[in-house]
Amino acid sequence: MTEKKFEKLTAVKGMNDILPPESARWEWLEEKVRGLMARYAYRNIRTPIVEHTPLFVRGLGEVTDVVEKEMYSFEDRLNGEALTLRPENTAGVVRAVAEHSMLYDGGKRLYYMGPMFRHERPQRGRYRQFHQIGAEALGFPGPEVDAELILLAHHLWQALALKDVRLELNSLGQPPERQAHRVALIAYLEAHADQLDEDAKRRLHSNPLRILDTKNPAMKALVAGAPRLLDYLGEASLAHLNALRAILDANGVTYTINPRLVRGLDYYNLTVFEFITDSLGSQGTLCAGGRYDDLIAQIGGKAAPAVGWAFGVERVLELLKEQASIPEPLPWVYAIVPDAQAMPQVMRALNEVRRAGVSVQMHAGSADAWGSMKSQFKKADASGAQWALIFGADEMARGELTLKALRDGVGAQSTLPLTSLAAWASGLSPAAASPA
Ligand code: AMP
Repeated sequence: MTEKKFEKLTAVKGMNDILPPESARWEWLEEKVRGLMARYAYRNIRTPIVEHTPLFVRGLGEVTDVVEKEMYSFEDRLNGEALTLRPENTAGVVRAVAEHSMLYDGGKRLYYMGPMFRHERPQRGRYRQFHQIGAEALGFPGPEVDAELILLAHHLWQALALKDVRLELNSLGQPPERQAHRVALIAYLEAHADQLDEDAKRRLHSNPLRILDTKNPAMKALVAGAPRLLDYLGEASLAHLNALRAILDANGVTYTINPRLVRGLDYYNLTVFEFITDSLGSQGTLCAGGRYDDLIAQIGGKAAPAVGWAFGVERVLELLKEQASIPEPLPWVYAIVPDAQAMPQVMRALNEVRRAGVSVQMHAGSADAWGSMKSQFKKADASGAQWALIFGADEMARGELTLKALRDGVGAQSTLPLTSLAAWASGLSPAAASPA
């Protein structure tokens, strides 16, 4: 019989597998985030990865890169609905908050983690499936919550010992202020129409603010001379910005005001900010956010103020990789089992060690052999474990096992009654404890 050979399948371009040991770094980061969110009283929300396409078209704005060209949209084969893999999670959170009337008894502080999808050109720091961790505070109008969110992110960078991160801040004001600025901006850009690139020409009347965000060096000078939105802010908008600044100043958070910071999505008003690093090349924006007081009403909910941010997990981990190593979780104990016949009893004993909170890697046979003592000891050593537990047949017949130190005091050996194994495991140093 000839064996049929199948073509080898691979992951979709721009969508990455996250394998051990790298995945341990992800878990480590996620744990840090969960702990910190709890300290700021933010609670976890999980919304579907697939949403109705109009949520993003209406939420993010029609003339945005994401909606214009980056969404993974498809038609539901069964009922023809227009669906999209979420390119970000703020719209989904807002939809869920409105759908479940979550603000009926006051504001809510929420956070999420998960994959997002954008059809971009893959490169370092830019993927088609990437992961965001985000925090949103809904139902709070005041600058103190903008400040709380910025402090939370700042606290996280500190907890991760992340360096080379700076904060840029701006205010986009309110819609009438933006309108007045827009008129002046269009007039200015029209007067310099010969200097506009294709992208800018296309956006001149649809989304001129985004032209200020240009990455084209040839347009930098033009943009630098453009009317500044900051100069069009009224008293209330300025007061909001100044109150936020006062809190950041009092808390030692440094920032620069960047009048050209506008953000890629349409839903922002008042506060916008980005945490940026210069250590990651062109994809240097780690975390971005701002206030979006009109979004809930825009997707059909009862109007309520809101503010939030999201950071890219891949980018933060990439920056950490350049700066610090994160310890890989290793088993504390390796179980050496000379004879496969002993497995039922051995595994019962190992469960007691695990119930005592200690991580155990047990020997398992391979396709062609159970494995000699020598090869098992080699594997025990390679596992990084501190202790080998040796379940020899003779010892077990006497109700005992052998303990052998693999690191500190390497080679030291002693016997232990099987009935004392749980107590031995409970008495190990706190470093042995692994989270349940
Ligand atoms: P945004 O939703 O566009 O404001 O993005 C927020 C953050 O998500 C960015 O600052 C990045 O850290 C991250 N991010 C956005 N798009 C991508 C992508 N295609 N690949 C990796 N990270 C991304």
